[in-house]
Amino acid sequence: MASPQTSNPEPRAETTSEGTQLQRARADEITPEMRAVAERENLDPDLVRYEVAEGTLVIPANRRHLGEGLEPMAIGEVSSVKVNANIGASKDTSSLEGERDKLRHALQWGADTVMDLSTGRSNLAEIRRALIPESPVPVGTVPIYEMVDRVDGQVAEITPELALDVIEDHAEQGVDYMTIHAGVLQAHLPYTEGRTTGIVSRGGSIMAQWMTENEAENFLNTHFEEICEIFRRHDVTFSLGDGLRPGSIADSSDEAQFAELRELGELTNRAWDNGCQVMVEGPGHIPLDEIEMQVDKQKEICDGAPFYTLGPLVTDVAPGYDHMTSMIGAAVIGWHGADMLCYVTPKEHLGLPEPEDVKQGLIAYNIAAHAADVARDRPDARSWDEALSQARFAFDWPRQFALALDPEAARNHHQAANSEENHDPEDVHFCSMCGPEFCSMRITQDQRDAAGSDKLSFDGDYDERPADEVKTEQGARYPGVFDNRT
Ligand code: SF4
Repeated sequence: MASPQTSNPEPRAETTSEGTQLQRARADEITPEMRAVAERENLDPDLVRYEVAEGTLVIPANRRHLGEGLEPMAIGEVSSVKVNANIGASKDTSSLEGERDKLRHALQWGADTVMDLSTGRSNLAEIRRALIPESPVPVGTVPIYEMVDRVDGQVAEITPELALDVIEDHAEQGVDYMTIHAGVLQAHLPYTEGRTTGIVSRGGSIMAQWMTENEAENFLNTHFEEICEIFRRHDVTFSLGDGLRPGSIADSSDEAQFAELRELGELTNRAWDNGCQVMVEGPGHIPLDEIEMQVDKQKEICDGAPFYTLGPLVTDVAPGYDHMTSMIGAAVIGWHGADMLCYVTPKEHLGLPEPEDVKQGLIAYNIAAHAADVARDRPDARSWDEALSQARFAFDWPRQFALALDPEAARNHHQAANSEENHDPEDVHFCSMCGPEFCSMRITQDQRDAAGSDKLSFDGDYDERPADEVKTEQGARYPGVFDNRT
């Protein structure tokens, strides 16, 4: 048996009597973090407290990270839909500088949280410890990856003691939420045998291998209360992993997936009983017509705990474009009640994403999250759309670009398409799509002018607030905003 390596030589933190956000909400306390979330999301602080106490809203905020510049944010029923981006080193990559670049890139393109999925390096703890204070957004991890690294890939040799040691290390480093694959049980494994794509979750496949080789139950489940004790001490939020999520349309909504979901419902209540905050992870690959049913099932079985989904991809036929196949599913699942969307990049199923893939994934998922907020009638969601539409109808090109999700892309497309004409592309009342004679918005304006009304003539005031203020009104992060705030 390989000897487990210890990466954190510092003494363990003492138990604090402060309590988690959940415990304090249940004690009727409105914490500074709840107030910050209320202000950011335009919500009543007491509503935020109530939702946190109910478990339907989480504020992932490790006490250590809070002292290092974390900006409190929330994930749940009453908050705007959030977007997560994955970063992380692997065996062949990368340096601290490389990870810094990935973090900055994710923040620049609008990630509300980042997950460090690092594997295979001896200095993972050092890199993570350096990155967390540089992240104003919550940082999540999947500690089972490091457990595998510490036994040199000999999965069966992971012990519960080693698992708790790794989890404690991550908590002490300031990690705000962790994916814990405690829901996949021995009894579930036979259900995966006839699947088209088997077990596609890395954590799920590692746990299946461990259970099979040791002929023992999932140690993350049998030692769940000890994990809760660590999480409670640091106020780490559970992200209960979906180790048996479907990896293809053919495997969607099968017994393996729902057997694990029922166990995740049990674990949600065990975590709440232990004073810990919880969100629950979801699939994966689901056809459009099953998405609403899947959300309803998760919310019912997990008693309203926030739902954190990967995609879902709504078809399997477009490798190279899975940021698109999944953003369709992400918008629909967000509309029906998912609370945070983990992005998918064009490299999904094909390779490690490059910076441009990260950008494309985050743009796609910010569109999906905002579309879901609009459909859910979230307060202020539509004011951004309204402000951009006003600027568009007024031919105020600079403001239209500033309000765009990706201002640079909008400006570049417009200038490229209109640069050959003998005019300033930012001072015209048409574009090359219809041309000056057929520009329908200009024709409408001319008709209104002829009728004597002003050129805009809509019900309401023209929104003249700075573009960044409009874009951040809902409490989510959006591309470019990070740069303007730092
Ligand atoms: S020319 Fe057509 S596409 Fe371009 S601004 Fe006018 S209506 Fe819109």
